[in-house]
Amino acid sequence: MRITFWGAVRSVTGSRHLLEIQGRRVLLDCGLFQGRREESEARNRYLPFPAAGVEAVLLSHAHIDHSGNLPNLVKSGFRGPIHATRATADLLDPMLRDSAHIHERDVEFVNKSHARRKKPPKQPIYTQADVAHTLPLLAPHAYAQPFEVAPGATALFRDAGHILGSAITLLDLAEGGRRLRLGYTGDLGRAHLPIIRDPEVVAGLDVLVIESTYGNRMHEAADLIGERLEGVLARVAERRGKVIIPAFAVGRTQEIVYAIARLFESGRLAPMPVYIDSPLAVDVSAVFRAHPECFDAQTLELLREGTNDPFGFGRMHYVRTLEESKALNERQGPMVVISASGMCEAGRVLHHLRHSVEEPRNLILIVGFQAENTLGRKLAERWEEIRILGETFRLRAEVEVIEAFSAHADLGELLSWTRTLVPPPRRVFVVHGEEEQSLHFAAKLEETGLRNVIVPEMGKDYVL
Ligand code: ZN
Repeated sequence: MRITFWGAVRSVTGSRHLLEIQGRRVLLDCGLFQGRREESEARNRYLPFPAAGVEAVLLSHAHIDHSGNLPNLVKSGFRGPIHATRATADLLDPMLRDSAHIHERDVEFVNKSHARRKKPPKQPIYTQADVAHTLPLLAPHAYAQPFEVAPGATALFRDAGHILGSAITLLDLAEGGRRLRLGYTGDLGRAHLPIIRDPEVVAGLDVLVIESTYGNRMHEAADLIGERLEGVLARVAERRGKVIIPAFAVGRTQEIVYAIARLFESGRLAPMPVYIDSPLAVDVSAVFRAHPECFDAQTLELLREGTNDPFGFGRMHYVRTLEESKALNERQGPMVVISASGMCEAGRVLHHLRHSVEEPRNLILIVGFQAENTLGRKLAERWEEIRILGETFRLRAEVEVIEAFSAHADLGELLSWTRTLVPPPRRVFVVHGEEEQSLHFAAKLEETGLRNVIVPEMGKDYVL
């Protein structure tokens, strides 16, 4: 038994961990690496292992940094099942199509300049056709139902409380008379996030592979979301500005919509126009409605009462077309625009930012993790000058960061979840965090008495 780490080690994107059991290979997640363009491109395009040799994929959740390279795996020869929870499987359809669309469009753009310089055209990492070959390989499972992955490997999913459908993967492995249970957190959520349930407690792990996005940070409590949001929206409404919220189409967008809808319904805030400007978010919100088995008690209660509209379909404006999106730039505030991508690396949010950042009445609301070298990070750090789509702008709009929305457990929450593991795991691999976060979290775990805490390096393998 062996595990090799091929991504999201000492960094946060491109999760890929390869397990070997009885000579078969099983891949935990197959995410896209996101960062500087050329480095990302090479790491995503060329897989470090033969795809045809992978028996099955176990997918923790639908976020692109965990799922986004699946079509390339299939294109490269993978034919096995992709095991996922039901909600994750449904989310992948719109998400992978959207991702292929972005790759196709990016290459189109790059090829225009290649043509001018007489350089050979590039091919996208994958296309809609590759996505169409990938989706039929999905094998959806209910939470807590065990299934066989390979000889000597049985898996089951527990709720990770991170986004709709997110799972902690438990694997019971047997080889040559040895048995062990491995737990992979995927991304671990936090208590009291809107809509979804809290992360589940799991037991009896020998080996733990745990994320550490916030291994050195504490957030505001998730139940402060309403209060913090109310303050920001009320302030900008008074000065008739625009609130631009860069948000991932999956998870954060639905939680923000849910939180704003609660504020309007409770009368704590006068309703103002809210635009969800992302065709992907429209599709994803429909998947949310189809999976009440993933909701927490409060959301189920709202649905049962029937008088409320938890996802705000009645009063929010879902924007699909580019024309409608552009028209928003001409409108006067107060208004809220929620648009992808969450780290401002691509997508329609860039156009909204171009039109908003130089006006002090406006406010950019940062609600999610911003990786190094992204525009989102520069906004969160309030750089004086920023570049958007090749042009320089002065940042005069207010910037507010609400960490309560984070879908990732913070240091305290990671530690308290780990304390619920009884008996404690014999070995822990700390992944999915920038180096400083992972190393700090590993040191904290050792302080709690855990032994064999390892922060792996890229491409390194460990006998289990
Ligand atoms: Zn995630």
